[in-house]
Amino acid sequence: MIITDVEVLVVKQPEIKMIGDGSQDTAVVRVTTDTGIQGIGEVDSSPYIMKAIVESPASHEVCRGLRDAVIGMDPFDVEVIWQKMYNYSYYYGRRSAAIHAMSGIDIAIWDIIGKALGKPVHKLIGGSFRNKIKAYCSILMPETEEEIAKICETYLPMGFTGIKWGWGALGRDDDKDLELVRLCRKHMGDKAKLMIDIGMRWTEYKQAVRLCNKFSEYDVHWVEEPFLPDAVDFYKRLTQDVSCVNISAGEELGTMYEFNELINGCNIDIIQPDMSRCGGITVAKKVMDMAMLKGIPMIPHAFKTGILMSASLQLIAATPNSPFLEYCSQETVLSKNLVKHHFQIDSEGYVNIPDVPGLGVEIDEEVAERYTVKVW
Ligand code: MG
Repeated sequence: MIITDVEVLVVKQPEIKMIGDGSQDTAVVRVTTDTGIQGIGEVDSSPYIMKAIVESPASHEVCRGLRDAVIGMDPFDVEVIWQKMYNYSYYYGRRSAAIHAMSGIDIAIWDIIGKALGKPVHKLIGGSFRNKIKAYCSILMPETEEEIAKICETYLPMGFTGIKWGWGALGRDDDKDLELVRLCRKHMGDKAKLMIDIGMRWTEYKQAVRLCNKFSEYDVHWVEEPFLPDAVDFYKRLTQDVSCVNISAGEELGTMYEFNELINGCNIDIIQPDMSRCGGITVAKKVMDMAMLKGIPMIPHAFKTGILMSASLQLIAATPNSPFLEYCSQETVLSKNLVKHHFQIDSEGYVNIPDVPGLGVEIDEEVAERYTVKVW
């Protein structure tokens, strides 16, 4: 079997709002083989940039579009393909955008391998430690108490046992942050897990220490991405100086080099690779091993469509310590409808891990076609 084509679709809702909601558009990656088996992937990045990185003509030996690295390859050589893509994009890549595009292709290749063998992806990367996983509702932090109450009334009765409130109104004013956390706990009750995602908006180390300590009064389970990912020293000091709240991060990182820095250099409490950005399933399973050595849980970041959710579910199934699924609860047209039979949560808060060949999702072609835009 050889790969014959790689395609990136820019799929977006008609109007993009300037809020921290990555589920408004996506880059869908399709990898086709000579056997007719097709794999799908997705990238949580700029879909326009992803398309350019995959389709660019070559400039020279180590400055080439990723399509050049992939066509003609056997999908079972997935690690070889990963390294080849890295080498071909070395001049402009190595981190961020190029690794994002590689991630989408890598996910699609794992989908192909699973389909070719008639096995779900988790059976190829270690097997199933579990066949269902508790999901937490992941949603933007609103401005008002009324909106907070409404979210709790909507999502907790559905079965969610935790809510992560992120970005939105957070990270602009310390007193407001504290008040919002108080209101979340008030309306969630004592039992549900409360997580806060600052969206990298805190800028001072001592501000973070002060607020994390105050958040702990409301039993906050983790504080996510308090700082920009490059503020490595802040992370190192914060994990040392705050013991009452877990500090989590990792969704912006790509390659093992960056995860090594966060896991071993900063002693992060919870690691959150996004499979559509970290380097794909190939890198995420190595991050899983790094997390296991360090004794920390891995809870993948996933705030996109059912494609990324399926990749997360596959990794979670094969990870000994992965206690939670991020369930993107922004109600955008793509988050719920791009794949057929989007993953549902049961009344106890679980989502089933797909047990069919490959990733276990199928694109709704009618939806994909309606929201795909022509870029060139
Ligand atoms: Mg986050």
